[in-house]
Amino acid sequence: MHEAELKDKQYVWHPFTQMQDWVSRPQQVIAAAKGIKLIDTDGNEFFDGVSSLWVNIHGHRKAEIDEAIIEQLGKVSHTTMLGLANIPASELAEQLVGIAPPGLNKVFYSDDGSTAVEVALKMAFQYWQHLGKPNKQKFISLEQAYHGDTVGTVSVGGIDLFHRVFKPLLFTPVHIPAPSCYHCQLAVDPAVCGMKCAAVLEQVLVEHHEQVAGLIIEPLVQAAAGMLMSPPGYLAKVRELTRKYDILLIADEVATGFGRTGKMFACEHEAVQPDMMTLSKGITGGYMPLAATLTTDEVYNAFLGDYTAKKTFYHGHSYTGNPLACAAALANLKIFREENIIKGLSPKIAAAADSLAEIANLEHVGDVRQCGLIVGIELMQDKSRKIPYPWELAAGAGVCLQARKYELIIRPIGDVVIFMPPLSSTVTEIKTMLDIIKRSINEVTAAGWSGGGLQPTDL
Ligand SMILES: *Cc1c(COP(=O)(O)O)cnc(C)c1O
Repeated sequence: MHEAELKDKQYVWHPFTQMQDWVSRPQQVIAAAKGIKLIDTDGNEFFDGVSSLWVNIHGHRKAEIDEAIIEQLGKVSHTTMLGLANIPASELAEQLVGIAPPGLNKVFYSDDGSTAVEVALKMAFQYWQHLGKPNKQKFISLEQAYHGDTVGTVSVGGIDLFHRVFKPLLFTPVHIPAPSCYHCQLAVDPAVCGMKCAAVLEQVLVEHHEQVAGLIIEPLVQAAAGMLMSPPGYLAKVRELTRKYDILLIADEVATGFGRTGKMFACEHEAVQPDMMTLSKGITGGYMPLAATLTTDEVYNAFLGDYTAKKTFYHGHSYTGNPLACAAALANLKIFREENIIKGLSPKIAAAADSLAEIANLEHVGDVRQCGLIVGIELMQDKSRKIPYPWELAAGAGVCLQARKYELIIRPIGDVVIFMPPLSSTVTEIKTMLDIIKRSINEVTAAGWSGGGLQPTDL
């Protein structure tokens, strides 16, 4: 056993992990990486099939990002944004405003997706106080939503397994149905239902809009719910209704931002201009923690006034606007421009779709969902009757462990096998990775398999 594995097992507590299980099994230690491959302490190479949990964009050790960080190191690594500005944070704010949907003109920095959402919630809440509508205090969020792990973001979350235990600590949002056709509880035939889920939202707004500050949504893809995808037009309808009923729309693009869906931001697919947008994960190309909450002049201006009016937004973090992270983010955006990344995605997305059409035909694959290079493959014990595998069987975890034998690292959410490769993956690499997934699903779901005693992996 490598020394690092010993020390890990003795001292480290891992996220979303049953540690009793973790310490009892051999674990892999990553020592290095290159391109879309991770290299472990034995020198074995693996495809990074989930972009190191949805953050990596252009591969690892991308020369331009490495150099940008090194160059910034030669100037200054960190200074506070309380009372001081810095060069990379100013430059990055201008560029983020330049690529964001129109109207988002102001950038509030923080450190990760959870803090970006926390900022949006507090900002939206305070905004209505300043506007003289102090009753607008509630939030609408989607069932199955995931917006982070802090107490505020867990409050607007909707994943029972993660959130149930914290219930007494949380504020209560108004939940609306997740707009996921495969799991729809509202309509018999989602193809012709006229979006009943949007009709439910309108009922909620009619009833509650005077108490509601904002609606928060993961646009197009509810990622941590298992890549649940909304039907075309749903997001635009949400924008229409939130405007009609005077509710702020918060688009949480922490997972979907920076090209994952085939466009820079998911909101672009339906020409939606939210009032706030939260960004993190891909913002630095997957190099460093950084997040941003973008908002409109209208929201920003509501906080202006003489300091004695106490309209200041009293929120900030020690590492807000960190210059090293901002330098990485600037290099990330430069690569998007210079290598025409978004344009280059079409053949990759099409190649994934080709391979997925075959996977969809497998006996134990109930549903295949794809949005750009975000893919969820949902396993079912009985496909025709939509009967899932027993949770304890950990079928999704079984498939992912099998894939590791073929040098692909992926991670499931329950029985949804997630595939979210770096955008820099080539067509050939995408096909190779999906071939491995197909083979692994076949082997694990073959007759007689009864689970490998694994822990179910839920995120
Ligand atoms: C990952 C994620 C978050 C939380 O981001 P962290 O950086 O893990 O705190 C928030 N919203 C969405 C949609 C996410 O996918």
